[in-house]
Amino acid sequence: MVQKVVPAIGIDLGTTYSCVAVWEHDHVEIITNDQGNRTTPSYVSFTMEERFVGESAFNNAAMDPINTIYGVKRLIGRCFSDTSVKEDINLWPFSVVADANDRPKVVVNYKGEEKQFFPEEISSMVLMKMKQIAETYLGYTVKDAVVTVPAYFNDSQRRATKDAGVIAGLNVKRIMDEPTAAALAYGFHKIKDYSKPQNVFVFDLGGGTFDVSLVNVCGGHFEVKATAGDTHLGGEDFDNRILNYFVEEFKRKHKKDIKGNARALWRLRSACERAKRSLSTTTITTVQVDCLFDGIDFSSTLSRTRFDELNKDLFTKCIELTKQCFKDAKVDKNEIDIVILVGGSSRIVKVQQLLGVYIGDKKLHRDINQDEAVAYGAAIQAAKLSGQGDELVNNVVLSDVTPLSLGVAVDVGVMRIAVPRNTPVPTTKVDCFSTRFDNQPSVLFEVYEGERLQASSNHLLGKFVISGISPAPRGVPKIDVCFEIDEDGILNVSGTLRGSGETGKLTITNEESWLRKEEIDKMIKEAEKYKAEDEKHLLKVNARRKLDDYAYEMSKTIRKPELLSLISDSERKKIEDRVYEAISWLELNEVPTVEVSKSKLRVLKEICEPLVTKMNSRNQVDVVEL
Ligand code: AMP
Repeated sequence: MVQKVVPAIGIDLGTTYSCVAVWEHDHVEIITNDQGNRTTPSYVSFTMEERFVGESAFNNAAMDPINTIYGVKRLIGRCFSDTSVKEDINLWPFSVVADANDRPKVVVNYKGEEKQFFPEEISSMVLMKMKQIAETYLGYTVKDAVVTVPAYFNDSQRRATKDAGVIAGLNVKRIMDEPTAAALAYGFHKIKDYSKPQNVFVFDLGGGTFDVSLVNVCGGHFEVKATAGDTHLGGEDFDNRILNYFVEEFKRKHKKDIKGNARALWRLRSACERAKRSLSTTTITTVQVDCLFDGIDFSSTLSRTRFDELNKDLFTKCIELTKQCFKDAKVDKNEIDIVILVGGSSRIVKVQQLLGVYIGDKKLHRDINQDEAVAYGAAIQAAKLSGQGDELVNNVVLSDVTPLSLGVAVDVGVMRIAVPRNTPVPTTKVDCFSTRFDNQPSVLFEVYEGERLQASSNHLLGKFVISGISPAPRGVPKIDVCFEIDEDGILNVSGTLRGSGETGKLTITNEESWLRKEEIDKMIKEAEKYKAEDEKHLLKVNARRKLDDYAYEMSKTIRKPELLSLISDSERKKIEDRVYEAISWLELNEVPTVEVSKSKLRVLKEICEPLVTKMNSRNQVDVVEL
């Protein structure tokens, strides 16, 4: 591949689908994958021979649900012991275990061996696929990317996503909030139309996460005023509710529990997801799975009313979080100019109804492409950061906010907030602390994120110690703790003892649940190994396909009636035997080596070529005669 400076790409790394886009010839191009689709399933499937990512992995899920991984965005940056992780595991056909540091790892059988992968590794495989899709389209090697995350992703989830990018061999130029990207996609072409600031409310309900952001758009400035959400609320939860409902129905009707059967569970889940989608346009639908369990067919109906009832609390939660966002932004709902609906699940009728009743149906903007808006916005940001955009792109200024409050545990475990939620980022805040006892030689700082008063109810990010404090009465030594949040929303904390130069730094990387530098380096090497293996496998598959295509073509040629006048019967029989010999051989050899396939093709061609030449010359004569 030719090495050339190319624009950075924008990747929307979704829970169920991912999308990649690039700024090219003064517009955003959403790049289609090898199947011609504009979004690609965020699925990775492992088999005895190879690894599939995207469409092929999704297609393999029904056959091998235990070794097909999806939804890892719901695991990324979380601990295994999180309640949400436990809930997901219960309904996933593949298995998830904890490592020694309470980090979740998915377990698969790959090439006959048990393998465990961190969610970051699975995400990196999806990112690599998106990179590859872009490279095939552009014809260049892509290095830089803007990757989007839910605005409500916390520090560890952002770090983990960035790590996934590093493992995939990408230089992640920016971690961008999904609703901000969607606001940019919507507002970009309207920049010149806005004579006064507009309050744009982004309602992003996807496959696994829910995010809302209130963005004030003025000229090319997109300023996020507040954000709220739930990183564990989306289409998968609605599917789970339907799935549980029908699992119970099956139990009631047939006295059998399908929960332990991964294949049955996957097939029923797929049917539930399809039913959910159709309820966005019809009021009742059927859910049908032949031979679901123990040879029993399953058939039932699902009405929109029942679906709404099953998910009532989840839909209400979306409206509650919307209210919270307005409150935090100090903006009344009547001051909202437009509501943009993003994410596949925002198509749900009840969700739109509830939102319409609360904000005003006329304000709902349904025209934006729900599945592509985020990647579209990411591509504009990528073009700006790589200096490849036009004047309009270069004039875009984005200002995001931090979704969660950050602070330190003080006194009896109370959280002292240093950076309140919805503070614009990047930001630097310095807070001053002291000792609690006379002659205290050191101070331990525990840094948390979250909104609870009791620090231990929040999420512990890490700890650091400032030591070497000279004997002094309590309250006299002064320690400045500096919170720095970069454009990616990633935090760095450091402390300095005034007058001594004694310093400490938050050791996020090795105490808590994130990946260590050595682990990332190891994963990069493995990712390269897997990529090389995939490429090798692809070469084998392509070589075999060429032989297969040729043998199949010849099996048709040999039966053409016009052949009778060109070769003798015995000659025809000889060629036919060799062609069928090759076809039988292919049936027995699924992945032969490239060399073997090539040599078989060469031999077959030598046998068939005289015949092909004769056929061609006869066809030419036919043309002249005409
Ligand atoms: P996203 O993460 O934005 O790609 O959204 C994917 C989620 O949207 C999946 O859970 C889909 O099942 C869901 N989805 C897609 N289309 C529809 C639809 N027409 N009605 C309801 N949910 C949908």
